[in-house]
Amino acid sequence: MSDAILETTGLTKEFRGFVAVNDVNLTVRRGTIHGLIGPNGAGKTTCFNLLTKFLPPTRGTIRYDGRDITGMKPAEVARLGLVRSFQISAVFPHLSVLENVRVALQRERGGSFDFWRSETLLRRYEDRARELLEDVGLSAYANLQASDLPYGRKRALEIATTLALDPVMLLLDEPTAGMTHEDVDRVVALVKRVAQGRTVLLVEHNLKVVQGLCDTITVLARGAVLAEGDYAAVSRNPDVIAAYLGT
Ligand code: ADP
Repeated sequence: MSDAILETTGLTKEFRGFVAVNDVNLTVRRGTIHGLIGPNGAGKTTCFNLLTKFLPPTRGTIRYDGRDITGMKPAEVARLGLVRSFQISAVFPHLSVLENVRVALQRERGGSFDFWRSETLLRRYEDRARELLEDVGLSAYANLQASDLPYGRKRALEIATTLALDPVMLLLDEPTAGMTHEDVDRVVALVKRVAQGRTVLLVEHNLKVVQGLCDTITVLARGAVLAEGDYAAVSRNPDVIAAYLGT
């Protein structure tokens, strides 16, 4: 099995002539937590959307687990195990926390909503949903309406619904955006936990968040790769410092 699970070659995205992602060669090694960081406007979100097939590239190729996925649809790559947060769409606010995860499981396993399944099967979904809530630290909130979850816990629910798709590689877009320090620490611990046995690509604005999490960090600036390495290396890189100070 190759060491690389995800590889891009010359990945480029132009919006009416504006180059948002410019000739990016990215290699994510299997079993690692890889951070894609950069100042505002660096092209992180565009790159994330290209990798999960929500946007078609202008040029370049994307390989995942030995296959060329450049022309695939989001659902196809999700079936191969490459799953982004929000893959299932946002959380349903009027359902309970538990029901949200159960629906995610039913959707995935059954392919469609079929509420007339056997009792046994429904119980299995419910048990699995409870396990996933336990994994993300939300057991105490199982019966709460999702819209009543504190902001800092909503990401944990999104991660639980993403885990319902049984990802091999998980792509997370700024999982700590807008959170308090305490919530950030909790999400960092959660990402560490869900990364076990998986590969994670984390798009993040905050250097501090990736510090404790990422084995490798790729820094984007103005759409191109500016630097790559572990936290110690990229945080000392004068180009990286200049790019961050310039925002
Ligand atoms: P980041 O996530 O790093 O802040 P983005 O990927 O959102 O960066 O954006 C990179 C650049 O591409 C920005 O200058 C942004 O204005 C531009 N951009 C992103 N999406 C579009 C779009 N749909 N049309 C035109 N320009 C876009």
